[in-house]
Amino acid sequence: MKVSVVKETAPGERRVALVPETVGKLRAAGVDVLVESGAGDGAWHTDDSYAVAGASIVSRPEALAADVVLMVGKPDEATTARLRAGQVVIGLLAPLADPGLVRALAAAGVTALSLDMIPRTLPRAQPMDALSSQANIAGYKAALIGAAEFGRFFPMLITAAGTARPAKVLVLGTGVAGLQAIGTARRLGALVSAYDVRPETRTEAESVGATFIELTSVGPASGDGGYARALTDDERMAQQLELTGHIARHDVVITTAQVPGRRPPLLITDDAVKEMTAGSVIVDMGASALGGNVAGSVPGQTIVTENGISVIGASGLPSTMPAAASAMYARNISALLLYLVKDGELTLDDSDELQAGVIVTRDGAIVHPSLAPPEPKTSLEPEEGAAGVPDAAR
Ligand code: NAD
Repeated sequence: MKVSVVKETAPGERRVALVPETVGKLRAAGVDVLVESGAGDGAWHTDDSYAVAGASIVSRPEALAADVVLMVGKPDEATTARLRAGQVVIGLLAPLADPGLVRALAAAGVTALSLDMIPRTLPRAQPMDALSSQANIAGYKAALIGAAEFGRFFPMLITAAGTARPAKVLVLGTGVAGLQAIGTARRLGALVSAYDVRPETRTEAESVGATFIELTSVGPASGDGGYARALTDDERMAQQLELTGHIARHDVVITTAQVPGRRPPLLITDDAVKEMTAGSVIVDMGASALGGNVAGSVPGQTIVTENGISVIGASGLPSTMPAAASAMYARNISALLLYLVKDGELTLDDSDELQAGVIVTRDGAIVHPSLAPPEPKTSLEPEEGAAGVPDAAR
């Protein structure tokens, strides 16, 4: 069986799906590894380093003809058009956000496996949890970006030229990325506070050094599968209003809030930004074309407001640390492949909960329960939940 790695095509994407270290493990499992020439350049892995590890360096058409094609993101239109029936594609395909891609892959007869759909709470899925590995990197980098943009120190410094007080950092959303942002800001010496709508995150946030903020106006909003549920309009407005006072008391605010299958919730309004002190910094990890956690943030840009607040649209952070992100991603995708390969061949079994979670299209059909057309409902069946995304997809 031939497994290939293609060069990523998304603008600014520097990660690669396999690093040389993981090539040997796949070869030991009886798999031939093909690497598109230049695929590792962005992460400083040369063609030679892959060849030394046992991979064959090939052209893009040869890589796209392999039995299994590995990638970090999703295939662009030109790539999808070259795929053929019976091939397998594995990547972070974001199928919930791109139903057109899913339809195209199904129509082409391509079997698509999406790492971001892995059932993360299954213990055996943890080595394959690319959302967590990449969120860890993003949280770390967000704290560094906040520190670099801030015009003062993070730690308390006592010098002959005076004493610098430590920066006050607030992290909103304490999932995987938020916890890593807290730990990193703490290691830099900042005083860190944190808030999340899921009260059970308090102990985790405290264990990495944050003081947890509880809002009195919004109750717990834990949803299914360890995620947050979307807030109602009333809850959202109460939350924004109460957060405004806390935000104004901090120098650097890092936002990481997400709700599965939804656009990121708005946590920092224009009014909240206006209340902040000149020189303060906001790092919006939720920044996207649809809007982020912060009013007015633009992905990939730093906007300085009239009152002197830097609002950083910090999307795509894992790609800014391509060596670390690729190494972790390569271990995640290799763990999935090794789980699926028996006697050198890929065998799929959708009665296995883990596999059913990641298989999006198969044999010309969209098979994932959160994407396949719903069975017709009888009048006795309840309506679907608010987010409409089953646990396995979160
Ligand atoms: P995420 O990226 O979906 O969301 C980030 C955080 O934003 C979450 O903590 C969420 O509660 C918070 N949030 C959402 N709306 C908010 C709002 N309006 N205000 C404030 N905060 C808001 O989350 P994630 O980092 O991918 O993971 C979330 C959960 O999944 C965590 O409990 C994590 O421990 C769990 N998880 C479990 C496993 C496992 O069991 N192996 C693996 C990975 C993650």
